[in-house]
Amino acid sequence: MISRIDLRGSLPGDLRSVLPRADLDIEAALDKVRPICEDVRHRGSAAVREHTRTFDGVELERTRVPDEAVREALGGLDPAVRDALEESVRRARAVHRAQRRADVTTQVVPGGTVTERWIPVGRVGLYVPGGRAVYPSSVVMNVVPAQEAGVASLAVTSPAQKEFGGLPHPAILAACALLGVEEVHAAGGAQAIAMFAYGTQECAPADLVTGPGNVYVTAAKRLLKGVIGIDAEAGPTEIAILADDTASPVEVAADLISQAEHDPLAAAVLVTDSVRLADAVEDELKAQVARTRHTERITEALAGRQSGIVLVDGVDDGLKVVDAYAAEHLEIQTADAAAVAARVRNAGAVFVGPHAPVSLGDYLAGSNHVLPTGGCACHSSGLSVQSFLRGVHVVEYDRAALADATARVVALAEAEDLPAHGAALKARFGWGIPS
Ligand code: NAD
Repeated sequence: MISRIDLRGSLPGDLRSVLPRADLDIEAALDKVRPICEDVRHRGSAAVREHTRTFDGVELERTRVPDEAVREALGGLDPAVRDALEESVRRARAVHRAQRRADVTTQVVPGGTVTERWIPVGRVGLYVPGGRAVYPSSVVMNVVPAQEAGVASLAVTSPAQKEFGGLPHPAILAACALLGVEEVHAAGGAQAIAMFAYGTQECAPADLVTGPGNVYVTAAKRLLKGVIGIDAEAGPTEIAILADDTASPVEVAADLISQAEHDPLAAAVLVTDSVRLADAVEDELKAQVARTRHTERITEALAGRQSGIVLVDGVDDGLKVVDAYAAEHLEIQTADAAAVAARVRNAGAVFVGPHAPVSLGDYLAGSNHVLPTGGCACHSSGLSVQSFLRGVHVVEYDRAALADATARVVALAEAEDLPAHGAALKARFGWGIPS
């Protein structure tokens, strides 16, 4: 069901090359999404609707969801789901509000200051996946940080669903209503990303698009980066668990399965120094997968080359392996888990000890679940308030401070053979260098 990679003895120099990871063929998907994006660029809404017909099997009259449909969805929401969503929003808001950076003014020299001002992006498009599973939780994870950053204009898009008359899933619409989102579109895949990048007759172009999605969404974000800003590539989900003999095989297996449930391309990786745990987890996987609802999808994900059990010689080697892997989600299930977690360098989010499973973070921990995948966690962060802000340096110098800087600016300008740079300062002091 799940392969084993034995790295006991010594770790290879190029660890990444031996670790399990999906061959997510974004390059192949790029060829597929390029014509879709070009079509949306030239034909706008009509192209978005046509590709929705092809890939989602839905005939749309318009992509923009009527306001009353969004309101009605909230009215029809199961009270238990509403309560859970409200608590999810409350916790996420608390965490994301605390992230908001204050503007900082630094006095560089007497009379000379640089202020870093954090300015929200003007308009954002928020992608909420809805192919195999629907993700009202991703509405929360996208919208809350954008709102806390102070973004003035935001639009949510999610794939049109055949069984709901071409609207996005009602739970997604309800989550939008709960958060006060006024603009919602029924569009998924590459055509939705292109809609935000180029704008259509129904949707003004956005400055930034964020949110997770499948390989087509990820490829379209990569293709249109530059036309529109993007967050990190957040593709098929990944869980890595660093566990030792103290971990519970039942819980480790349940957590691996919980993320394999997302997608046949989802990755579930256990890194352990305990053969006893590895054997017990394999037995548990067999037993639990048979009892779960999405057996086929989970079996495919666990059997895929992106998943595996990696055997190592100890927790120190295990840390090297998980750092090289740079998982989207990393659980630490070892003795003294907090101390081990403190040594992790590369992960989208770290879940410490037996009482912080990734599923908690998916919905209710307060942390964000839109996280970098495919190893991008070694250079990118998950979605946060910061994703929706730009830091702008505001420079203020008085005459004396500028005079004091002139000789050095002129020297550096001459060294770069750009004398007009120095002249711009000298012009303010009668073309001489002030003493
Ligand atoms: P999705 O909304 O990402 O994609 C569905 C859309 O893909 C459809 O609307 C359709 O237009 C398009 N599409 C489908 N087949 C196509 C084809 N052959 N060619 C072109 N376009 C096509 O929903 P999904 O498929 O369920 O994927 C969601 C993904 O998001 C999963 O992989 C899940 O693991 C991931 N996810 C990641 C995170 C994260 O933070 N990394 C969080 C939640 C979900």
